[in-house]
Amino acid sequence: MKVTFKHLFVPAVTIQYPDVRLTLPERERNRLYVNMDDCIGCDQCARACPVNCITIETVKSLPTEDLGKTSNGKKKALWVTTFDIDLAKCCYCQLCVFPCPTECIYMTDVYEFSEFERGGFIYNYVTLTPQEIEEKKNNYAKLEAEKAAQKAAAASAPKPPVKKVVPVNPSGGDNNPKTQSVESQPKANQPQAEKVDPTSSGENKEN
Ligand code: SF4
Ligand code: SF4
Repeated sequence: MKVTFKHLFVPAVTIQYPDVRLTLPERERNRLYVNMDDCIGCDQCARACPVNCITIETVKSLPTEDLGKTSNGKKKALWVTTFDIDLAKCCYCQLCVFPCPTECIYMTDVYEFSEFERGGFIYNYVTLTPQEIEEKKNNYAKLEAEKAAQKAAAASAPKPPVKKVVPVNPSGGDNNPKTQSVESQPKANQPQAEKVDPTSSGENKEN
């Protein structure tokens, strides 16, 4: 009872959440957000993630398509057809944020995102519609098929005849002075023939 009565006269350390909310620090780590207008689909964030909770799929754009640039001037060349983050797996380490070349993935101040189903934690950030995604995939597949057909046609085309090289020297010898000079020189690793000094022989003629 003494402890209870003591606490009647000290200020409360708890708050009446959700009516009262604390001000969060500036560097808080909460729910991730991806600004898809600036995403170039480089996959660096997914590779940095230690728990593999980011899934990215891309499709190359056609040479005739212009996807524009990001807000920091990077040219876009890929259609991002999948960009999912499973926040149920995320450990809020923020390692995906730092490698992003366009700074389009970042932590927000949203921390109230409870769900009844686990699947509700998979956030899909793609802005293309399913029809558009299908169209981009089909366009790229068509382009690849055309390229393969062109390659096959080039491979099956008749090749020009190869000219025969007739040697200049009828005896078949090598007239190249460079080659000749190389052959006449002793090779670096070849052991030199020993010079025999007649005076150093076992027999002494004077004796
Ligand atoms: S905060 Fe960490 S765990 Fe979460 S998506 Fe980014 S890298 Fe992965
Ligand atoms: S690192 Fe940035 S630009 Fe690259 S895929 Fe991730 S969010 Fe997109």
